[in-house]
Amino acid sequence: MILDGKMVADLRNEELRKKIIAENLKLTTAIILVGSNPASLVYVKNKIKASKKVGINTKLFNLDETISDAELTKVITNLNNDNEIDGILLQLPLPKHLDDDKFINLINPLKDIDGFTTINQGRLFQKQPTIVSATPQGIINLLNHYKIDVTGLDAVVIGRSQIVGMPIAKLLTDLNATVTICHTKTKDLSKYTKKADLIVAAVGVPKMITANMVKEGVIIIDVGINRLNDKLVGDVDFDEVSKKAKYITPVPKGVGPMTINALLENIYKIKRGV
Ligand code: NAD
Repeated sequence: MILDGKMVADLRNEELRKKIIAENLKLTTAIILVGSNPASLVYVKNKIKASKKVGINTKLFNLDETISDAELTKVITNLNNDNEIDGILLQLPLPKHLDDDKFINLINPLKDIDGFTTINQGRLFQKQPTIVSATPQGIINLLNHYKIDVTGLDAVVIGRSQIVGMPIAKLLTDLNATVTICHTKTKDLSKYTKKADLIVAAVGVPKMITANMVKEGVIIIDVGINRLNDKLVGDVDFDEVSKKAKYITPVPKGVGPMTINALLENIYKIKRGV
């Protein structure tokens, strides 16, 4: 069965749109884009479009590639202090001369709709209410929609990034799955994936998870977005693995739309005091 992220995200976006109207909310996100990385431009455009659809305003700050540390600091500080701005989204990666972590942590955690600040990630790891990064939250929302109970499942998360791998491993652990985290230094990836009831692939290597690496009835969440011969593909060889999987997310129209939806819901949560 295909886990239709696009369909679920559309449903949730529509619910959010109705809530925003019913509660007469004025929500505004500041999006900071430094430079003109083509992939970042596409992501930003999509986020603006998705925000508009649910009635969230966006203000784009498209800053010069050569902006100085001090100037970017000023932009973020001003947005932190601006009562008209509910959420701040800093599109990553920043150009090389700017430190991603430093600027993420300049964002007021109460406006951190990406949930990337040390405070918000710390709160997640201490099981306190917080803004959770959009991709892991979107995955949990998708599992919930299809009533997939992960209690007691052997889950394998491939990838240990701060924005996907680690937080999804934590969320699955909190939902009582038994989680193994695999990464570049894992000696024999198949050894883990073959036994897994649930696999979250968040790697960035096209079609690296093949049918011989998984067992019958596995649940597959494919986070990867890779360009292969001008097509978008995931980290999982969908055509072959889907023959063995009980549930599987497609790429595109799987985790991607769920991520954007979770990002939009984060702004609402922030306005409502998390
Ligand atoms: P990242 O590069 O920060 O992390 C990749 C992780 O994969 C690392 O922890 C690394 O240890 C692990 N890894 C790399 N090669 C490996 C290998 N051969 N075997 C085992 N582990 C390996 O990436 P990220 O930001 O976590 O994103 C991962 C992928 O998900 C990318 O393709 C990215 O584009 C995609 N992504 C998609 C969404 C979405 O909305 N669908 C959101 C975020 C990221």
